[in-house]
Amino acid sequence: MAFSTSGGFAAGGPASSFVAHRSDRVRPNASTRRPTAGSRVSRLQMMDMPEVVECDVAIVGGGPAGMTCALYTSRADLKTIVIDKNPNVGALAITSHIANYPGVDKAMTGQELLEQMTKQAVDYGAEYRRAQVFMIDSDDDEGEKYSKTVYTPDATIKARSLVLATGAMGRSTAPFPGEEKYLGQGVSYCATCDGAFYRDAEVCVFGNNLEAVEEAMFLTKFASTVHWITNSEPKFLMKDAKVTDLIGCDNVKHWTKSRLLEVEGDVSGVTGVKVQQRNVDEPDIIPVEGAFIYSAGGGNKPITDFIQNKVEFKEDGGVVVDENMETSVKGIFAIGDIRNTSFKQVVVAAADGCIAAMSLDKYLSGRKDVKLDWVHK
Ligand SMILES: Cc1cc2nc3c(=O)[nH]c(=O)nc-3n(C[C@H](O)[C@H](O)[C@H](O)COP(=O)(O)OP(=O)(O)OC[C@H]3O[C@@H](n4cnc5c(N)ncnc54)[C@H](O)[C@@H]3O)c2cc1C
Repeated sequence: MAFSTSGGFAAGGPASSFVAHRSDRVRPNASTRRPTAGSRVSRLQMMDMPEVVECDVAIVGGGPAGMTCALYTSRADLKTIVIDKNPNVGALAITSHIANYPGVDKAMTGQELLEQMTKQAVDYGAEYRRAQVFMIDSDDDEGEKYSKTVYTPDATIKARSLVLATGAMGRSTAPFPGEEKYLGQGVSYCATCDGAFYRDAEVCVFGNNLEAVEEAMFLTKFASTVHWITNSEPKFLMKDAKVTDLIGCDNVKHWTKSRLLEVEGDVSGVTGVKVQQRNVDEPDIIPVEGAFIYSAGGGNKPITDFIQNKVEFKEDGGVVVDENMETSVKGIFAIGDIRNTSFKQVVVAAADGCIAAMSLDKYLSGRKDVKLDWVHK
C-alpha cells in the first residue's frame, strides 16, 4: 500500500486527497501508516518523520516576488526560508528576455535575472530549499510562537510568518478523463513527493515542458519503466541537455506526438493510460501504476491548491490581500501573480515582495510603523 502526498491539483483545482494507493510490495511498513479520515496526525504519519525546521519567515515560491521578499527579510535579520518547487518553471524563469525591468539590459533572460535575485537573497542569509509545498496550516492560538506550518515531502517548516508567492502559471485546461477520479490513487503532480512509491513499477509522465523532463528523470531512479508522453515533438526542449539525458536512460520510453486520452483504473487505483499516437489507427493502452501529469506551464491560474481554504480568495481565484499584502489570516501574506491582478509584471511582483517584507517585519516586531530599509545620514 502506498500513499500519495501530492493529491493537489497543480492548476489550483481540487484539494489534496491523501488517498491510499496500491502496490503492497513498494513499502513494507506502509500499511501501518494508512491515513484515517485525513487527520493532520495521520497525514504526518504517512511521511518518514520529516525534518522540522523553525524560522521567522517561510516564503512559498522562489520567483521575483518571493526572492525580493527574502532579500528584504534576510537583510532585516529575520531567519528566512524560501521553499521553491522548481526554479525553471515560474513565469519569470520561462521568459526569454526581460526588456522592461528597470536597470536590466534587454538581452538578459528571465532565468538570468531570477538567478541574480536568488543569489542576492541567499548572500544576505536567506535559505533556499527546493521542494514542492503540498499543504500549509495556521494555528490561531495566541501563545503559539511558530504558528504557521509549511509541509513538504522532506521537511516541515514552522514559521512565525508565512508568505505565499507561487505565481499564476497554474493549469487552465480541463482534467483528462479519469484524472480526478484517480487523483491520489496513482495520479500525481509531484514525482519528488510520490516517486519512491513506484519502485520497480511502470509509470508515465505526461508533459512537454522542463518540469516534466526533470520529474521524469527523478522517477528513473525508482520505476522499472518511465513512459514520457508528449503531444508533439519536444523540439524547443531538445537543446536542453536534460532532455537528451532523459531519452538516453535505459528505462525511459518516449511516446512522441502522442495524445493522452484517458487515465484508466479500477478499485486499486491507476492501471494504465490510453494514448493516441499520430498516424496510428488505434489508441495504445500503456500499463502503468502511476500517472504523473504536468500540463501546466502556460496555464494562467493562481497556484493555490496547497492553501486549501486557509485564506480568503477572490472570485477569480486570486488571494485577497490588504494594502500591506496581508491575507485574511494574520501573519500570512500573499504577493505577486498569486493575487491575480491585471498587473502581472516582474517589477510589480518585486514591489509586492518589498511591501510584504516590511509589513511582516512590523507584524513580528510589534512595531506601530514600518521600518524603512534605508536611513538618511
Ligand atoms: C511568457 C511570459 C512572459 C513574460 N514577460 C514579462 C516581461 O517581459 N516583463 C515583465 O515584467 N513581466 C513578464 N511576465 C510576467 C512576470 O514573469 C510575472 O508577473 C512574474 O514572474 C510573477 O512573479 P511571481 O514571483 O509572482 O511568480 P513566478 O515567477 O511564476 O514564480 C512562482 C514560483 O513559485 C514556485 N511554486 C509554484 N508552486 C509551488 C509549490 N507548490 N511549492 C513551492 N513552490 C512553488 C514556482 O516553481 C516558481 O519558482 C511574463 C510572463 C510570462 C508567462
